[in-house]
Amino acid sequence: MHRPRSLAAIYRLRLAAILWCARSILLPTAVGIMLYGAMLSHQAVTWIGAGVGVLGGLLTILQWVIATKARCPLCASQVLSHQGCSRHRRAKKLFGSHRCRVAMAIVFRNGFSCPNCNEPTQLQLRDSVNPRNR
Ligand SMILES: [Zn+2]
Repeated sequence: MHRPRSLAAIYRLRLAAILWCARSILLPTAVGIMLYGAMLSHQAVTWIGAGVGVLGGLLTILQWVIATKARCPLCASQVLSHQGCSRHRRAKKLFGSHRCRVAMAIVFRNGFSCPNCNEPTQLQLRDSVNPRNR
């Protein structure tokens, strides 16, 4: 079980995971609202869907920026951004995505298994860094 060295690394991983979950919900919702508005020929509903889509796009850009700094404490790979690196042969997916599994694990379990090195990470400070253990 590996642990990050700093609180900033933990915050970056959590924020990138929350943003990944938010944009994964917002973008399909925007498409659904826009289709609903188009079916009803209701222009205000279509604009609301477009606004939700723009918000999802902005969250996606922010997530990309933050995810470039969110790294695995062991192999230093970017676990929440697409790098094109080969994944570990035993790394598992959720809904066909390694990033989805990592983001959900960070949000709901406070830890993740790195898809590149397949080592578990707990989002707590290392004992040598944690001031509560001194
Ligand atoms: Zn790793």
